[in-house]
Amino acid sequence: MTLEMGQADRERLLAEVLAGRVPDARGRFGPFGGRYVPETLIPALERLERGVREQLHREDFQAALGSELTTWAGRPTALTRAGRLSSRWGAEVWLKREDLAHTGAHKINNAIGQALLARRLGARRIVAETGAGQHGVASAAACARLGLPCTVYMGEVDMERQAPNVGRMRLLGTTVVAVKSGDRTLRAAIDEAIRDWVSDPLHTYYLLGSSIGPHPYPYLVRELQAVIGREARAQMLAQAGGLPDAVIACVGGGSNAIGLFHAFVPDASVEIIGIEAGGRGRGLGENAATLAFGRPGVLHGCYSLLLQDEHGQVQETHSISAGLDYSSVGPEHALLLATGRARYDTATDAEALDAVKECCESEGILPALESAHAIAGAKRWAERHRGGRLLIGLSGRGDKDMSTLQQTLIARLAAVSS
Ligand SMILES: *Cc1c(COP(=O)(O)O)cnc(C)c1O
Repeated sequence: MTLEMGQADRERLLAEVLAGRVPDARGRFGPFGGRYVPETLIPALERLERGVREQLHREDFQAALGSELTTWAGRPTALTRAGRLSSRWGAEVWLKREDLAHTGAHKINNAIGQALLARRLGARRIVAETGAGQHGVASAAACARLGLPCTVYMGEVDMERQAPNVGRMRLLGTTVVAVKSGDRTLRAAIDEAIRDWVSDPLHTYYLLGSSIGPHPYPYLVRELQAVIGREARAQMLAQAGGLPDAVIACVGGGSNAIGLFHAFVPDASVEIIGIEAGGRGRGLGENAATLAFGRPGVLHGCYSLLLQDEHGQVQETHSISAGLDYSSVGPEHALLLATGRARYDTATDAEALDAVKECCESEGILPALESAHAIAGAKRWAERHRGGRLLIGLSGRGDKDMSTLQQTLIARLAAVSS
């Protein structure tokens, strides 16, 4: 990775990070973030930015959001002491249970928040993109709840791979549009959703699913997901009697991780660790570990780190978990890495599968394959920090992964027992 940043710059930026002053007024997280989009998109993004500034932190908006989060989405989610994992690992392990949130993952925090904002801003319909379908389902549910028509763009390839989620979205009254262009996966779906938005930016709201994209999205999504870390920090103090030594979450676009990390950034004693998808190996195309192997560049309107070849062509990624399969990463993570406030590591497909099994057997919780990467990273941390106290972001439940698990873990179990 090439991050040409001098020591003085790094220290200045670290001070900004610790003081909670990122992004700046231009939506920049240090050198990252910003708004690299065609002229046609600027007015819509400026209108959204104004809407976020005027509405998001208003008392009545926060009250409406808080009410939906508690009475509909199931917040606050539990903090669980993982007793048997703790004994096995020789550490004190705590799980922040986003798997218990409505629709099975943290994505609902962002979807209901943005849908409420869209209604406030006078939108008549919502467009969204989805890769694995999890953000599509969360958006479809939020839109149904608020009575907003919803169109979700989804790559043709992903629609085949994630058929149950396509069915869920349709049941929730959403129109699912198959994207047949480009790579026919998430990247092309984002392009199509943006194209739809630009054609009627006054009445359409684009509900982006992770802490990526042009300003103000990375900021907006972080603010909506920060509830995870706010709750978890208070729960740690109340239930564990103190802060964790480390917080660990998986990183795809980066929304559950930044949501968990945000409240802990000023706590200098807390180590912050993100775990990316190490896939099958270190080669280009074999993983989705952008912070580990990426170089700076622009994708979807945002300057961040990208998995690209020597000609700057963005590369396809691989991960056993569809939710971590993105060639870029949120700009705030790129900054946390550059300043040294957070560090990032990888877990392979095989390590994630082992972690699924260990979490199931030890705690009676089937984690999402994405979340299992965080568990695998946490296990490694525990090996080096005997007796340490650890908070893991369990971003979602694994029921959606049954067909992948059937072909891997479960097939192996059946082979052993027969
Ligand atoms: C979508 C998803 C992720 C990855 O997205 P982030 O924006 O990086 O959080 C992680 N875990 C689960 C369960 C997901 O559905």
